[in-house]
Amino acid sequence: MLDKDCIFCKIIRGEIPSSKVYEDEKMLVFKDIEPKAKVHLLAIPKNHFKLLAEMDEGGAEDLKYILKKIPRIAKENGLENGYRLVINQGDDAGQTVFHLHIHILGGETLGW
Ligand code: 5GP
Ligand code: ZN
Repeated sequence: MLDKDCIFCKIIRGEIPSSKVYEDEKMLVFKDIEPKAKVHLLAIPKNHFKLLAEMDEGGAEDLKYILKKIPRIAKENGLENGYRLVINQGDDAGQTVFHLHIHILGGETLGW
C-alpha cells in the first residue's frame, strides 16, 4: 500500500512535512515545494503506485475519485479562471517522484 522509501508516502504518513490543502481517506493534495506556476498543487492517491502502466483496478478507481474532486479543490484554491493538469510519466517527461501524482497548475495565464 505505502512504500517505505517513497517521498510522497512519507508525506502521507506525516514523516515529511507538507502544506496540505485537502485530505480525505483516499487522497491528499499539497503545495509543490518548487512551484512552476503561481499556484502549483500535487494531488496524490494514498495507495502507492508508480506509473499509469502499473495501475490496477483499485488505482483506476482512486484516479477517477481524484479527478472528480479536483474541480472543487481547484476552485477553493483560487483557480476559478482555469488550471492545467499534468501527469509526468517516465524519464523523457522529467518524472522525479515515482508515486503517481497529478500536478495542478494555475493562478496565472500559462504558456504552453
Ligand atoms: P514529477 O517531476 O515527478 O512529475 O513531479 C514531482 C514534483 O514533486 C516536483 O514538482 C517537485 O517539486 C515536487 N516535490 C519533490 N519533493 C517534494 C517534497 O518533499 N515536498 C513537496 N511538497 N513537493 C515535492
Ligand atoms: Zn508512494
